[in-house]
Parts: sequence; C-alpha cells; structure tokens
Amino acid sequence: MRRPLVAANWKMNGTRASARALTHAVLEGLQGERRIDVAICPPVVLLDLVGALLADGNLILGAQNVARETAGAYTGEITAEMLLEAGCNLVLVGHSERRQYYAETDAIVADKTARALEAGLTPVICLGETLDEREGGATESVVARQLQAVIDKCGVGAMAGGVLAYEPVWAIGTGRTATPREANDVHAFLRQRVAGSDPQVAAGLRILYGGSVKSANASELFAMPDIDGGLIGGASLVADEFIEICREAAQS
Ligand code: PEP
Repeated sequence: MRRPLVAANWKMNGTRASARALTHAVLEGLQGERRIDVAICPPVVLLDLVGALLADGNLILGAQNVARETAGAYTGEITAEMLLEAGCNLVLVGHSERRQYYAETDAIVADKTARALEAGLTPVICLGETLDEREGGATESVVARQLQAVIDKCGVGAMAGGVLAYEPVWAIGTGRTATPREANDVHAFLRQRVAGSDPQVAAGLRILYGGSVKSANASELFAMPDIDGGLIGGASLVADEFIEICREAAQS
C-alpha cells in the first residue's frame, strides 16, 4: 500500500503575509490528518517563514528547484545543501515550466535529481508531454525518454528515494485535466517501465498526478490504482481547496 502524497507548488506567488495566512489555514484544516503526506513548496525566500510555521506539525517543506552544481560561481542558483539547511526535505525537479522557460533538458533534470538524492532530499521528478506530443501519439515515448534519462544517470534506485509526478503540459494551469483513465494509463506505463528494472521499487514508487487538480476532480483521480496523490499548483493557493484535495487523497 503506497502512502498518498499531496504537494503544493505555490510557484512564484505569495507575500510573507499571504504565506503566513495560507500556511496557518492549511495546518489548521489538516490538524490530526495522519493518513497522507502533505508537502508545501513555497518560493525560496519564503522557505524560512513557512518552515518555521511547519516546525511543530507533520507537513513537509519542499523547494521548487535546485542547482545541478555543488557550489561556486552560479549567480542566482541554490544548492541542495542550502535547501536542506533551510529545512527542506523534498524538491521538485524538471517541472515543465522549468523545462519550457529555462531550457532544462532531460540531462539537466537527471543531474538535479542526482544532486537532490546525494544531499538527502526527496526529488519529485516531473515529467509529461505537450499537447502536440499527445496529439501526435508520442505521450509514452516522451515520458519514457524523460524517465530513462534519470534512471541512466542515477540508477533505478533513484525511484526508491524519489517520487514521480506525471504532469501533462496541456493540463497545467489550463483548467483542462486529463481524465482519470488517461492519467492512470500513463502512470501504469511509467510503473511498468520501472518494474522492468526493479519490480519491488516500482511497486513502492509514488506517482503523483498534476494538472488542474481541484477539489471537484480530486476524488476520481485519486481513486485510480496507479495515482498516488497530486502535485497541485493553482488550487494550492486557496486554503479550502487544498485542504479538500488533501482530504480526498486521505480517503482514497
Ligand atoms: C503544477 O504547477 O505543478 C500544476 C499542476 O499546476 P496546476 O495545478 O495549476 O495545473
């Protein structure tokens, strides 16, 4: 039985005041909830603030990105060790917005995954196809390529220390969600690929779905056998929505 994980990706949103209010509301709404793991990934300058608020609870602090390098002249970058020191346990790698707007290639994503694992952070490895790729029938070949780049660099053991997040690019922030069947088919495909190298690791691997998840569609997505939780963007900025999504995951 895989323990569900719901991760909030706040992206580049929030002030100290709004982060404080949102974190308080989520902590209160999920008080006593022990059936799932919940992570919050705020912008990096809010990690200290959110981390301090989470200190007494059982929510996980995460970051949205990590450098592939270990130190040095890389202006603007943040190392895995810095994130760890800031209280993070988890980090998103390869989010489609990073791939799309910051030219992160499969090789860069694999390097970042390796750095996160070396430092002791749980990487949430994001993968997914664009609309053109889906319509061209290339979904499986695209996610297989993205997955393989990480396995080639880090070994299948990376899937024991990490989490996958299937996020079809056409569903992120668009209001358009993959149907539960469409999403589950890709999750099952990814699990099968990992099983090809290590069936035990595949069976324990959490694969999150991301792409316009909201309280109204969460339960049907989380009811699918290969969907082990969600990576939530827009809806994670609205406390009641996010809390309800977490409750749906807890009941799945
Ligand atoms: C995301 O950013 O990972 C995401 C899934 O966004 P949204 O929920 O807004 O589609």
